[in-house]
Amino acid sequence: MVKNSIKYERLREEMVDKQLKRRGISDPNVLSAMAKVPRHLFVSEALMDQSYGDHPLPIGEQQTISQPYIVAEMTQALELKKDDRVLEVGTGSGYQAAVLAEIVFRVYTIERIYSLYVKTRKLFDELRYFNIVTKYSDGTSGWSDESPFDAIMVTAGAPDIQKILINQLAVGGRMVIPVGSQQDQELIRIHKDEKGFYTENLGGCRFVKLVGEYGWRDV
Ligand code: SAM
Repeated sequence: MVKNSIKYERLREEMVDKQLKRRGISDPNVLSAMAKVPRHLFVSEALMDQSYGDHPLPIGEQQTISQPYIVAEMTQALELKKDDRVLEVGTGSGYQAAVLAEIVFRVYTIERIYSLYVKTRKLFDELRYFNIVTKYSDGTSGWSDESPFDAIMVTAGAPDIQKILINQLAVGGRMVIPVGSQQDQELIRIHKDEKGFYTENLGGCRFVKLVGEYGWRDV
């Protein structure tokens, strides 16, 4: 494995400063997590030098690692606390899960593509992210055995908001999910309280599709 070199540390600092702080990301836990996680190790060797750029990158299997800003925006939107347990649907490269794992007590992450699931489990172990629990499954139905979660993040575009995931949120819990068409979506934040849940639109975004029983059916 390529070491966490000074060169990448500098690119990471620049990313935090120019792409995150200047665009309004202010949660100190999010900023320090993203200043720490070696994003270049979550992409192929050929793409490492581009990994701190202001864009998503391919990770194989027609999937992507999200743009740094969207990772920060979604993480900040969850208003995380240290002892939170968080569910992520769509492990992908594992980068988002690693950012979450720097902030909270435990992260549960589900991936439906086997090769990505195997690759990220190995990487989490190499990077000693022992507070990340992984599962190979269709995440559209959540992880009921481990629920309720303090926060849920869906990192693929859904046709609508899955009630089954809201049911797995604790009272006081937060969820972020991109909802819309297969081409573009709106990032929706959900707050759950004892009376029910309410939604907030955080703006446009573009994700690969969430495929599964409660997502898009066509692969
Ligand atoms: N969080 C990822 C990261 O940090 O790299 C970005 C993920 S990528 C934009 C979306 C991921 O969601 C893909 O890896 C895709 O295979 C996965 N996905 C799509 N539908 C899924 C489902 N029903 N359950 C679990 N994972 C799913």
